[in-house]
Amino acid sequence: MGMLQIIPPGVTLDKVNHAKYFLIFDAKARGFTSRPKPAKTPAIPQRWRPSPMKLFVLVLCALTFTLHATEKTDWKAAATKAVITPKEPMWMAGYSSRNKPAEGTALDLYAKALALEDSHGRRMVFITLDLIGVPRPLRAHLEKRLGEAYHLPPESLLLNASHTHCGPEYRVDGKGGIFAEFNYNAVADAYGIFLEDTLFKLVGDALSQLSPAQLTYHHARCGFSMNRRLPVDGTYNNSPNPEGPVDQDVPVLRVSAPDGTIRAVLFGYACHNTTLAFYQWCGDYAGFAQAGVEAAHPGAIALFVQGCGGDQNPYPRHTIELAQMHGQSLATAVESALTATAQPVNGPLEEKLADVELDFAPVSRVDLDEQAKSTNKWMATHAKVVLTQLDQGKALTHYAYPVQVLRFGDGLTFVGLAGETVVDYSLRLKRELAGPPLWIAGYCNDVMAYIPSKRVLGEGGYEARDSMYFSTLPGPWARTLEERIIGEVHTLASGLGSH
Ligand SMILES: [Zn+2]
Repeated sequence: MGMLQIIPPGVTLDKVNHAKYFLIFDAKARGFTSRPKPAKTPAIPQRWRPSPMKLFVLVLCALTFTLHATEKTDWKAAATKAVITPKEPMWMAGYSSRNKPAEGTALDLYAKALALEDSHGRRMVFITLDLIGVPRPLRAHLEKRLGEAYHLPPESLLLNASHTHCGPEYRVDGKGGIFAEFNYNAVADAYGIFLEDTLFKLVGDALSQLSPAQLTYHHARCGFSMNRRLPVDGTYNNSPNPEGPVDQDVPVLRVSAPDGTIRAVLFGYACHNTTLAFYQWCGDYAGFAQAGVEAAHPGAIALFVQGCGGDQNPYPRHTIELAQMHGQSLATAVESALTATAQPVNGPLEEKLADVELDFAPVSRVDLDEQAKSTNKWMATHAKVVLTQLDQGKALTHYAYPVQVLRFGDGLTFVGLAGETVVDYSLRLKRELAGPPLWIAGYCNDVMAYIPSKRVLGEGGYEARDSMYFSTLPGPWARTLEERIIGEVHTLASGLGSH
C-alpha cells in the first residue's frame, strides 16, 4: 500500500495532522518519513506582567477549554474484529461459472463489529462482513441471542456484507441468501455456525469494551466504480457504461478517543466487490481498502459498508494488482475525507427497523413450462424449481423486506436497505431526504436478490430479471417495489428527529 506507509510505526496520521510532525521525503527509504518538530520555548515579553486578575482569566480559559474538550465525548464506543477465512476447503460464492473450491488465501477475510452508545445509554451495533451476503436466518439468530444476552433490541443491530466474490458459499439454517443454492456442500453449514458464534462473541466483546469516544462525519469521493448496464441491441449487457448513473460518495464515520486518536473508521462505497474472480480468499478492493486505512492508523479498526452498488462494477478488473489499486484509491479517499472539516455527530441515537412487503410479479405456468425446456441450464433449473413450488403451493407471492433507519441527532441519518440495491435508490433518497448528512447502504440485514429500481425493472436485463434464475425466488419483483421501499424509508425517517 505504497502511499499508506508514509508514517513510521507509532506515529499516527492524527499526530501529523495536528502539526506535531514534519513529513520529509526520504530519498534512501524511497518514501516519506516523519520527524518531530523542534520544541520552541516562546519568550514572554517583559512588558507582559500577568496580574492576579489576568492569571484568573487565563486559568478560567484553560478550564473552559478542558471542559469543552471533554464535553464532546458524549459517546461510548468500541470496535472488534476477527479473521473469518475458512480453515478448510470450501466452494466460493458469487460466480456460477466456478468449478472447484478455493485453493488458498490472498487476503484474510474479516468480520468486524462497531458498538456505539449515546449519552442516554441507547446502543447501536454495526457488523460488517467480507462475505457475499447476509442470510436472513443469520440476522434472526444473532438478534435473538444478543437480545437475550445483552438486551440489545433488534433495531440496534445492523449487518452489512461487502459482497466480495472471493468469500465462501455458506449457509445458515440451509439458507445462503443470494446465489448460494448451488455447489452446496455440508461444510457450508458448519461455516454458518462458526460465523454466527464468531459474530456473537465479537459483539459481546465490543459491548463490554465501550469507552468514551467522539464521533465525526466526513465524506469524499472515489472514482473507480462505473455503471455496468450497457444498452446493446435492445437489451442490457454487463459492460462498463460511463453514461450510466453512479454514486461515488465515500461517507466516513470517524470514532476517536478523547485525546483524538482514531479508534475506528466506518466507511462506505457503492460498488460490487468483483475486481477478482480467482480461486483465492480475498476481500477484493474493500478488503485492501480496510487494510490500508488500518495501516495508516495503527490500532484502529476500519469497517467497510457496501452501498447501493447492485449495478456498479470496479473498472478495470480481473487482477489482484487492480484490486489493490482500487483498495488504495478508496483508502486514499477515506484519508481525503478525514482532512476535511469534521462535522460533529452528536446524539441522541434513534433507530427504526421494519419489514415492508414486496410483491413478486405473477408467474405463468405456460412461461415456466417453456423456460424448463431452455438450453440455458440456469433458466431451466429455476423454472423446474418454481413449477415444483407451485405444485406444492409453496411459491412465494411476496417477501418481507427489512428497512432500517438510524438517526444520530442532526449529525447523520443512516439508511440500511436489504438486497443488492441498485444505485437509483441512493440517488433518489439523497434528493428526497436532503438536509443533514445522509448515508445510504445496500446489502444490509438480508441479501436475498437484486433490488432493481422501477427504471431498471422496466429496462430488463440481469439485475431486473435474469439474476433470479440463480435463486429459488419465483421471478422478477412487481413494479411496485421501488415505491414500497422508498415509502417505508420515509415512514421510518419521519418518525425520527426533525425529518
Ligand atoms: Zn451482485
